[in-house]
Amino acid sequence: MARKLAAGNWKMNGLDADIDGFATLPDTETELLICPPSTMIPSLRSQLPEHIAIGGQDCHSETTGAYTGDISAQMLRIAGASHVIVGHSERREAHGETDQQVALKAKAAWDAGLTSIICIGETLEDRTEGQTLDVIGTALAASVPEGATNETTIIAYEPIWAIGTGRTPTLAQIGEVHSAIQDILSERFGAAFRLLYGGSMKPENASAITSIDNVHGGLIGGASLKVADFQAIVDAIT
Ligand code: PEP
Repeated sequence: MARKLAAGNWKMNGLDADIDGFATLPDTETELLICPPSTMIPSLRSQLPEHIAIGGQDCHSETTGAYTGDISAQMLRIAGASHVIVGHSERREAHGETDQQVALKAKAAWDAGLTSIICIGETLEDRTEGQTLDVIGTALAASVPEGATNETTIIAYEPIWAIGTGRTPTLAQIGEVHSAIQDILSERFGAAFRLLYGGSMKPENASAITSIDNVHGGLIGGASLKVADFQAIVDAIT
């Protein structure tokens, strides 16, 4: 399995980020990725060292056309991105993105030479009703397109109720979902994939979470905005 990955999702934040601080993050065992707002990609790519990859937070499924306000995967690539997050729950909720659209975005990302980070996760209601594994299985089947490989695709398990709330599933619950995801992917594609956990990952819980089997790093929102917190998480990833 590839190295572990600490991926920061800055969401619609970052203008006041300490870029000089991020530029000094050392090249360690854990791979680093920052996904800033797309307008910041070129400047971060030129200011950060090569061992810190840069990603987008979304892309359109088409390569070009009349899609006001959208950005294509190729545009992200040209701007300096190597990765793109697709299907984040905030986009699924606020923009009505479906699993089918997410799959098309992932394909568009590969066609542009980007690695897609496909996000899936259950609601609190799904979890309390015991539906988590069913919901995850359905989302995985429909959001991950045919032809996915462990080089073009990373999966982020992000329980929606854990994002930005300070709450996380138990370690056993995270382990159960990650192992189910890995089983489904290996049956479908004949390979093991890199799986990230996302949802209120912090310096205090990063070590325990990333020590779970089939957790290969984190997708980190709030705690990726301050370089000291991000660095502490990177240090804690085992
Ligand atoms: C996210 O938005 O992908 C995320 C995991 O956010 P946070 O770490 O703030 O919960």
